[in-house]
Amino acid sequence: MIRVAVLAAALEVIAMSVTAAPPTLDQRIDDAAKKVESSVIACRRDIHEHPELGNREVRTAKIVADKLRALGIEVKENVAHTGVIGLLKGGKPGKVVALRADMDALPVKEQVDLPFASKVRTTYNDQEVGVMHACGHDAHVAILLGVAEVLAGVRDQLPGTVKFLFQPAEEGAPQGEEGGAELMVKEGALENPKVDAVFGLHVTSRFPVGEIAYRPEGMMAAVDSFKIVVHGKQTHGAYPWLGVDPIVVASQIVIGLQTIPSRQLDSTLAPSIVTVGAIHGGVRNNIIPDSVEMIGTIRSLDAKMRDELHARIKRTAEDIARSGGATADVTIETGYPITYNDPALTAASAPTLQRIAGKENVRVVNAVLGAEDFSFYQQKVPGLFYWLGTRPKDQTPEQAASNHSPLFYVDESGLLLGVKSLAHVAVDYLGKH
Ligand SMILES: [Zn+2]
Ligand SMILES: [Zn+2]
Repeated sequence: MIRVAVLAAALEVIAMSVTAAPPTLDQRIDDAAKKVESSVIACRRDIHEHPELGNREVRTAKIVADKLRALGIEVKENVAHTGVIGLLKGGKPGKVVALRADMDALPVKEQVDLPFASKVRTTYNDQEVGVMHACGHDAHVAILLGVAEVLAGVRDQLPGTVKFLFQPAEEGAPQGEEGGAELMVKEGALENPKVDAVFGLHVTSRFPVGEIAYRPEGMMAAVDSFKIVVHGKQTHGAYPWLGVDPIVVASQIVIGLQTIPSRQLDSTLAPSIVTVGAIHGGVRNNIIPDSVEMIGTIRSLDAKMRDELHARIKRTAEDIARSGGATADVTIETGYPITYNDPALTAASAPTLQRIAGKENVRVVNAVLGAEDFSFYQQKVPGLFYWLGTRPKDQTPEQAASNHSPLFYVDESGLLLGVKSLAHVAVDYLGKH
């Protein structure tokens, strides 16, 4: 009997020492992430049902600011119009890492059959439109608020500071307004305290729930636009030699522009695109007009190629025009920069993503020629942007509606991985530096 009692007591001591071992920071994060999952989904549904266009995210920003404050996080509001910045200082000294979510919806009329589908209507560019979170930014906000809750719960063990960037107008500001990441940076979002690295993610139907995808270096394109005005000399359509025909010259320029990506730049280095999207000139069949106007878009994935494209578009248009006795005025407007994943930061963070998602669920993928204003942060500090799969597992990529579609659908079971991956890449970054 006594021996049994002694054994039992010994076992108790062992059990106590097992339960008393404090959980690691990683375990605490995973436990907390699991606990916030249902509130992340509820928050996402609420924001989904109440979408707001760029620079008008008033309700969304209030939800964000209230939640951050309730977590004891320092809050700054009205940054870049409706942006909110949260600052979580850890219990230990260290670097500053920023995590970003965009908050804006799109002028799209939702067609998904959901109890929390958007019924919001508004006026956009003088047109009656629906408003929908057709790019999944509702999920980004909910995920980042989940991350804030998780990390606020472990702040005693946090070696550094986490800055939460809730940014307006990723899809572009309304006409005549500034906005988005560019304005956030301009208004000092990466300063005071100075940010050392930035992470962000985007939900996508290209990949199924449970998967993460990224690409080192250029992952999404720089988007620039151009306008070319070809000036000729107006004359009768039957006597072209009495004038200079800007329509024929403009046609040659269109063909000439296509030879820049295909014949002049190293297409093995990175793809690039020059697209003429509109041509306007002339009023009737027998008058050669005075001028022709063309507008188009330029996409590139490499900074040097981007500069080359601009220079060659100008040269091609001007010199072809000159060869026909015309002149060309070329204006190039720069838009979003290249979403450029810092190679060292990407390499250092990849093992974390693999650990959290499972090695087989993390892919290195091709770049896309769409754009993201996350790139403005990456111009200032090393950054990593990655895709988070939210396509239902029983759907093929062909069946799934793409981002910006009125049928875009987010499988919410994929959000937990968003919370966990962002929380862990941030903490691992701080732990390593
Ligand atoms: Zn979008
Ligand atoms: Zn987006």
